[in-house]
Amino acid sequence: MTAENTAERVAKRADQAFDETLEQLCAYLRIPAISCDEAYFGDVRKLAERIREDLEALGLDNARLLELPEALPCVAAEWLHAGPDAPTILIYGHLDLQPVNLANWRTDPHEPVVVDGRLYGRGAADDMGGWISHLAALKAWKQETGGFPCNVRLLIEGEEEIGSPNLERFMDTFPQAFDSDVMVLTDCENPSTSVPGLTVSLRGLLEVELTCSSLQADGHSGLWGGMVPDPAIALIQLIGRLVDEDGRMKVGRVDVGQEWAKASFDVPLNNEVIRKGSHMLEGVDPLPLRGRSAAEWMWRQPALTVVATTLPTPAEKKNAIRTHASATLSIRVAPGMSSETLWELVQAELTRDAPQGVLVEAEQLPGPGEGWLYTPKGPAFEAADRAYVKSWGAPLVQVGVGGSIPFVALFGRRFGDLPLILNGVMDPLTTAHGPNESMDLGIFRKAIAANVFLLDELAALGKAGLKA
Ligand SMILES: [Zn+2]
Repeated sequence: MTAENTAERVAKRADQAFDETLEQLCAYLRIPAISCDEAYFGDVRKLAERIREDLEALGLDNARLLELPEALPCVAAEWLHAGPDAPTILIYGHLDLQPVNLANWRTDPHEPVVVDGRLYGRGAADDMGGWISHLAALKAWKQETGGFPCNVRLLIEGEEEIGSPNLERFMDTFPQAFDSDVMVLTDCENPSTSVPGLTVSLRGLLEVELTCSSLQADGHSGLWGGMVPDPAIALIQLIGRLVDEDGRMKVGRVDVGQEWAKASFDVPLNNEVIRKGSHMLEGVDPLPLRGRSAAEWMWRQPALTVVATTLPTPAEKKNAIRTHASATLSIRVAPGMSSETLWELVQAELTRDAPQGVLVEAEQLPGPGEGWLYTPKGPAFEAADRAYVKSWGAPLVQVGVGGSIPFVALFGRRFGDLPLILNGVMDPLTTAHGPNESMDLGIFRKAIAANVFLLDELAALGKAGLKA
């Protein structure tokens, strides 16, 4: 019997166990493991312990909670009996959940329910379904063959939804738990239910506090208007310097290369997807493309959002020129550019000849996130494509993320020389972090099969073949 036939039998077995897998997923989702709220820390721990027991029952070795002071635990386990020539695969996922605003949910967020082929519940796709699709694949391998074709490590984080504040400490304290040849990080998105996605870039984040001042005290606008600089208008003029006529950030744009730019038009990100996904009002259109794809604008070019201002509120309305006005600018940084580089460009633009001669202060706020730009090349990605063709009928399509996911940037920085396969079970209708989060069951089924075949394909390469 050939290796491929074995994998096909394993995939069939995993598919037959689909309802059982779904049940396990639902059982986990009933525990409100919300990591941003102390009231739920007990639930995070309860779920972590439950997962630990299940990993042990699955036959993984050394199933344990990794603990650090002042941190919620990670669950880790491994199985290293495939031999020294087999590659070791690290599977990363997270067990913690985003909080919920009950008012906007149509169903109980912690009582998962299937409606029209989608499983609704907080965490269904982000990220419980993501890593359980691996668990289901492992279980089927174990039942069919008594083991796994590769060495396997599992690392399930408990603090991803609060920005993985301790993940690097876990990496430093428990390096063995991360020791692997290939990493499969499952907390990402697919462009549609029929096109599997491989995440290869993130935008960075730069926050700037911009302040314009002109007076010691508010001045009567009737008496002085016409000769006295208005900081509110100067602030708006300055922000306007950073954007083009469409309102898009024009400072810090990058050349994405002709090949990428052309291919990015094939990403299924059209106006309809954008309208629906962003909850756009009737009568409003997405910004014009101006010769670039939506994927390029959303993933690979910078973007500016005004997230706070001290412009006078309606309650403070009075006929006065105010002493100062300030705004907090949230700037997404193009992947491949450091936030420091963009900061220098933005600072130069904001501090040259002040509009109306006001005093201008621009300050970079602490805690910027670096972006990430990755080139997936080599045998591991070819193996992944083969696995996805078998399960989805299509190879992985490279996608980006417009936001900044700290764990991805961290893995990219620490393990960027390894093949990093970033995928998941989300799609544009998932509304991760929002109300009525859901996972498409067709995606879940295909993800399980993809994970079965991925282990087989990576095993066939062998550890040596990965580096070829
Ligand atoms: Zn997530």
